[in-house]
Amino acid sequence: MTRRVVVVGGGISGLAAAYRLLQESPEPIELVLVEASERLGGVIQTDRSQGVVLEGGPDSFLRRKPEALQLSEELGLGAEVIGTNPDVRGAYIFHNGRFHDIPDGVQAGVPIRLEGLFKTELLNQSEKFRLMADLALPRLTFDEDIALGRLLRYRFGDAYVDRIAAPMMSGIYAGDIDLLSCAVTAPQLLKLQQRGRSLIQEAQKEAARAARPAPAAPGGMFATLARGLGSLVDALESRVRSQARVLLGSPVEKVARTEGGYAVVLANQETLEAADVIVAVPAYQAARMLAFWDDAERALLAEIPYADLAVIGAVYQPTAFNRPLNKTGFLVPRNQVAEMTAGTWVRSKWNYPDTVDVVPVRAFYGRAGDVSLLTKADDAMMSQFRQDMGYIMGVTDAPQYQRVFRIPQAMPQYLVGHQRRAAAIREAAQRWPGLRVIGSYFDGVGIPDCIRHANQAASELVRSWRSG
Ligand SMILES: Cc1cc2nc3c(=O)[nH]c(=O)nc-3n(C[C@H](O)[C@H](O)[C@H](O)COP(=O)(O)OP(=O)(O)OC[C@H]3O[C@@H](n4cnc5c(N)ncnc54)[C@H](O)[C@@H]3O)c2cc1C
Repeated sequence: MTRRVVVVGGGISGLAAAYRLLQESPEPIELVLVEASERLGGVIQTDRSQGVVLEGGPDSFLRRKPEALQLSEELGLGAEVIGTNPDVRGAYIFHNGRFHDIPDGVQAGVPIRLEGLFKTELLNQSEKFRLMADLALPRLTFDEDIALGRLLRYRFGDAYVDRIAAPMMSGIYAGDIDLLSCAVTAPQLLKLQQRGRSLIQEAQKEAARAARPAPAAPGGMFATLARGLGSLVDALESRVRSQARVLLGSPVEKVARTEGGYAVVLANQETLEAADVIVAVPAYQAARMLAFWDDAERALLAEIPYADLAVIGAVYQPTAFNRPLNKTGFLVPRNQVAEMTAGTWVRSKWNYPDTVDVVPVRAFYGRAGDVSLLTKADDAMMSQFRQDMGYIMGVTDAPQYQRVFRIPQAMPQYLVGHQRRAAAIREAAQRWPGLRVIGSYFDGVGIPDCIRHANQAASELVRSWRSG
């Protein structure tokens, strides 16, 4: 009998897993991909309606982790891979009504080259001297993990953390630096702190040891696709659809054990029997679904918090701006007048080949721990955006196009101790033959991390079929 497999969740994790299973299976399989919403891609969503690329979620992937690049090439999108604009470097930090350059030489939150820090106007004189306390302060003692913010605040002071390190480091996770796990989000800092007491000195030694730094990748550290990341979703969708069933608008209620494997129960009570299941939904959904796990195991999943986010994409006439958009955009530390957490000047950041003469901008809203965001109507969000654009950039014109992308429970938060939690979830999943649980909540939120987990899960299942 043909082997039946169900993949639950049609974000990049589920799509990549379904694609890889279909590729690697030695025999034809009956695969069903089940997605709750009416579209595939999960948080990846590209709007091309204005003739320019406006990303509603992620806009790039790291080249250093090769899985997204490899998958794009494998799907025939190699010619569409583009890099960041080589003429534009770095972003600004918006503080006290002004744009400031991000000081040179801050790596993983550690100020390695102090000259850059001494020049910045983001810190006053005594705040700059406080950085030097790192050279003398004894090592902080803690068990295996500590909040990233606690370590950095102790060594470098609050002003540096609030205005420089936090906006730079918490952006990726939409997280609160005082809660994020250092072991997961900046493991290199734990290594440095074990080597000697000053993080600055140890980071400098580390930089010197890497005598020949890796050559800069052509196109920069990050890459994207010329028509937006939606093309990756579209390419995966068409490959998967050609060999499998895709059910949209079909939330899964429950996955139950059966004699031959699993029963995947949809909200409309349709049941899909399968020998193997890949669960590729956010942790809180997996917790709800995995009915046969014991309560403590499900709690491990359910207790991973997520941050709500919104991205506002807006398209302006070039005349709306009276300053050069000469960096990739800006970061906004907490406690400024504006609510926006960051802005991207899309055309400055990316070499998209679109030719329409307009200025697309992306603005980010939502911070970990702030639950007020999603209670606002789109109108209220847009009026906050217009107010912030006025305050930060002096833009008073209305955009010619605007769109609010709401992403409730968008980003898993790796809190202190997350490593142990993720390991325990992995262990729980391994007890069930034919079941794989994947997603961004284990150890990397990046698209390449999600694809890597998807590839691994698919390969492990295929291996188990061969040996079983
Ligand atoms: C605003 C934002 C910007 C980002 N920027 C970047 C970036 O630039 N680069 C980068 O590498 N990463 C970035 N990330 C992170 C990265 O995009 C995500 O970690 C990744 O896309 C998550 O993919 P996923 O498939 O695991 O989860 P999701 O995309 O959340 O997909 C899960 C899917 O499961 C479905 N689902 C949920 N419940 C059920 C159910 N009961 N039944 C069936 N289906 C269900 C959902 O509808 C969804 O489609 C960003 C994330 C966000 C939110």
